[in-house]
Amino acid sequence: MSKPVEFDVIVAGAGPAGLAAACLAAARGFAVALITGPRETRPDPRTVALMMPSLAVLEACGLWPGDLRAQTAPLRKLRLVDDTGAAFVAPELVFSAREAGLDAFGWNIPLALLKPRLEARALELGVKFHQASVASYAADAEAVVNLDNGDTLAARLVLAADGRNSALRQAVGIEMISWSYDQTAIAVSFAHSQPHHDISSEYHKQAGPFTTVPLPGRRSSLVWMERPQRAEELMQLDDKALAAEIQALSHGELGLISEIGPRRAFPMSGARASSFARNRVMLIGEAAHTVPPIGAQGLNMSFRDADDAIVLAAAARDRAEDFGAAKLLTDYDLKRQRDVRPRQTVIDLMNRSLLSAYLPLEAGRAASLATLASFGPLRRFAMSIGLGGGTNRAG
Ligand SMILES: Cc1cc2nc3c(=O)[nH]c(=O)nc-3n(C[C@H](O)[C@H](O)[C@H](O)COP(=O)(O)OP(=O)(O)OC[C@H]3O[C@@H](n4cnc5c(N)ncnc54)[C@H](O)[C@@H]3O)c2cc1C
Repeated sequence: MSKPVEFDVIVAGAGPAGLAAACLAAARGFAVALITGPRETRPDPRTVALMMPSLAVLEACGLWPGDLRAQTAPLRKLRLVDDTGAAFVAPELVFSAREAGLDAFGWNIPLALLKPRLEARALELGVKFHQASVASYAADAEAVVNLDNGDTLAARLVLAADGRNSALRQAVGIEMISWSYDQTAIAVSFAHSQPHHDISSEYHKQAGPFTTVPLPGRRSSLVWMERPQRAEELMQLDDKALAAEIQALSHGELGLISEIGPRRAFPMSGARASSFARNRVMLIGEAAHTVPPIGAQGLNMSFRDADDAIVLAAAARDRAEDFGAAKLLTDYDLKRQRDVRPRQTVIDLMNRSLLSAYLPLEAGRAASLATLASFGPLRRFAMSIGLGGGTNRAG
C-alpha cells in the first residue's frame, strides 16, 4: 500500500451529484480529491429539470447563471394531464411559477452540458482528479480509500457519490432497500413546430407519465415511461415513426414533431439506503436513493444531499471540530432521511396508482388531484414542497 495522500474531503464518483459536491466543498475552502470511477462512454440524452434551490447550488459552485442559462430553458408552468382513460379522470392541474411568487420553477439543463461544466469548474477550484475506482476502504481517526490504480487517499470525510451500486456504501455495510417497477423510461429530445410557452406537460398514461420539458427554441426533451416490452419496440423504431408516436401521444399540442435526438432506455427502480452515513462516509445522490423520474426529484434531492453535507462539514470545521465525526454523520442522516423518505413515498404512490387498475386507487388519485386543482393554499404548499421547501437555499 502506498503512503496516503492527505485531503480534507474525498468525493467518490464523477456523476452530476459527485461533481457538484466536489465544487461545493472546494468553494468552501476544503482540499478535495475526486475519484472519477469508470468513464461513461455512451451518450446521455437526459436533461434535468433543476428547481431554484438546485440552481442556487450551481450558483454557489460559480456556474449559474453564467452562460449556462442562455443554453437552457425556464419552466414557468407545470401541467398534469390525466390521460389514463380511467373510470375516474382527474381535472387538469396547472402549477404556475408566478402563483408561487417565482419567475420560473427552475431550468431544464441537458446532462451532456451540465457534467462537463461541473468538471471544468471543479478543476478551476483546485479539486484533484483521480482517474480510478474505489477498491477498498477503512476508517478510524481518518478515512483511508485505496484505489484500483494502487494509490491511497486519506481525509476526515468521504462523500460517496459512486452511484446506485456504490462500492463505498457496501464497504461501510449500509444496506440498500430496493424495488423495481414494471416500466422503462425512454429519454429523448425532439423539435416541434408549435411553441412550448415554457410549459412542461406531464401526461399521466396507464403505463406511467409521458413528460415533455422545454428546451431553448422549439425543442423539448421527453421522459416517456412505458411497459418494458413496449419500450423495447419503441427503441427499435426509426426516427420518423417515433416522431409520429410522440405527436399522437402529446395530442398534437406541440405541432409537428421532427429532429429526434439520440434516445436511451432506463429500466425503472427505486432504492433507499437504510442509513445515509456511517464510518466517516456520507452517501450522496443515487448511492443513497433512486426514484423514477416523476416530478423531477432525483438530482434535485442529490444536490440537497451535497449541500447539506458541505454546510454541516464547514460549520464543524469552523468550530474546530472533526468534520467526519459520528455526531455530524447522524445529523446528516436525520436531515436527509426527513427530506428523501416522504418524497419517495409520494412518487411511489403516484406511479403505482397509474400502473394499477384497482378502482379505489384510481379514485383516490383523481380525488387528490381534484383537491389540489381547486384549493389554492394546498396547491401553493405542494409547489413549495415540489421545489424542495425547507432547504439551506431559498427557492
Ligand atoms: C429518464 C430520466 C430523467 C431524469 N430527469 C430528472 C430531472 O428532470 N430532474 C432531476 O432532478 N433528476 C432527474 N433524473 C435523475 C438524475 O438523472 C439522476 O439522479 C442523476 O443523473 C444521478 O447522478 P449521480 O451522480 O447520483 O449518479 P451517476 O450519474 O450514476 O454517477 C455515479 C458515478 O460514480 C462512479 N463510480 C461507479 N463506481 C465507482 C467506484 N467504485 N469508485 C468511484 N467511482 C465510481 C461512476 O463512474 C459515475 O461517475 C432523471 C433520471 C432519468 C433516468
